[in-house]
Amino acid sequence: MTENFRSLPGVDRVLSDQRVQELVERYSRQAVLDLVRDGLDRARQEVSGGAEAPTIDELIEGLRDQAGCHWRSWPRPVINATGVILHTNLGRAPLSREATGAVQRAATGYSDLELDLDTGRRGSRQAHISRLVCQLTGAEAALVVNNNASAVLLGLAAVAQGKEVIVSRGQAVEIGGGFRIPDVLRQSGATLVEVGTTNRTYVRDYESAINENTGAILSVHASNFRVTGFTHSPDIQELVELGTRYAVPILHDLGSGCLLDTRRFGLTYEPLPQDSVKAGAGLSFFSGDKLLGGPQAGIIVGDETLVDTVARHPLARAVRIDKLSMAALAATLMHYIKEEATEKIPVWRMVAATDQDLEARAHGWRDALGGRASVEQGLSTIGGGSLPGETLRTWLLSLEIDGIDGGADEVARRLRLGEPPVMGRIEEERVLLDPRTVLPEEDEALLQAVRKALGRDS
Ligand SMILES: *Cc1c(COP(=O)(O)O)cnc(C)c1O
Repeated sequence: MTENFRSLPGVDRVLSDQRVQELVERYSRQAVLDLVRDGLDRARQEVSGGAEAPTIDELIEGLRDQAGCHWRSWPRPVINATGVILHTNLGRAPLSREATGAVQRAATGYSDLELDLDTGRRGSRQAHISRLVCQLTGAEAALVVNNNASAVLLGLAAVAQGKEVIVSRGQAVEIGGGFRIPDVLRQSGATLVEVGTTNRTYVRDYESAINENTGAILSVHASNFRVTGFTHSPDIQELVELGTRYAVPILHDLGSGCLLDTRRFGLTYEPLPQDSVKAGAGLSFFSGDKLLGGPQAGIIVGDETLVDTVARHPLARAVRIDKLSMAALAATLMHYIKEEATEKIPVWRMVAATDQDLEARAHGWRDALGGRASVEQGLSTIGGGSLPGETLRTWLLSLEIDGIDGGADEVARRLRLGEPPVMGRIEEERVLLDPRTVLPEEDEALLQAVRKALGRDS
């Protein structure tokens, strides 16, 4: 055992090795020194557990792997060939070129984020963006925060702290990532009053729960599940009528922030913020990086007095939106104002891609791969807590994996570990790649990655 310990090199011996010196030059002496110490500590533990001492070459190879893995630039670009347009694990919505340009400009230098250039006085970071949001949704007032989860939390805290909030039993749901409506309500300081049943809730259920301590009625869009069959829930219009009679504000969590009518693309209706505003909801909440196609953000629109109450709540500062997201959001909203969303916003380009386009791209890929794949019809999905169960017809590239040890799993693994990584879809022992979610400028890189994964380098 002691024999084994003695065969481990000292820190200085490792550090002076040419290969480790290269790491010192690329990163820093201190960072690499810590890595070496950790590596030697680990080796010592392994040896005391009975393992063979590693050779110095093995040690150094391990250090280089670790440095390359921990200190590479992150997040790495990934090609999304899954056909899931809003893939939460892949960062939800990719931004338009205009939006990324705006982020870069806002990030590189100073900006008039909170400055009124006309007067030279302090301005509000909300002024510009809320004008755009109001123009697009028809709302009286708007406030933009860090994400939709914080928008809902903030809205409830500002409007209903210490009061009761009425929610349909079928809507007291988990949105995902542990975001549960009952928990959010508790955190906001409001008390949840559930009414109706899981599948059916009527206006009269809400009405019978209203009392002098009612702070709001909250309606939550079922964005990640579908209730089918014997169901009923009042629409926002009916709730607004009820709320008006009792002077109770209606809060509407829409989830996706979809500003275009999805029925144009053969999809089911996804509630539009502008419809919620028109119906008279007191506050509506929606996300910036779902079907809106922008950066992570939470958008609150509605009645001026209520939005003002929300903006003054102390939590508003805690969930403030960052300037880079603000820049990206402003540029994304401009695409809607210029009526060019389906040409410029990647998410909408993907939704709007035509059958012919997709078929042509899939065949183009197949031809470029010289017969190591075939084309078939299939389905893409929206994903990301928007339009659950809804699909779009697409054309898929199915890779020829015969003769590869490990089959589909192995090919998918090689694609994932390639440069750039490619995420495909495995179905019935096949690897499928959907052109719908692959940006056109990624085609060449995708084909190279596929050739490599199939065992051909050219
Ligand atoms: C996605 C979603 C949220 C959370 O939005 P984030 O922007 O991800 O924080 C809240 N409510 C509903 C209904 C959602 O679909």
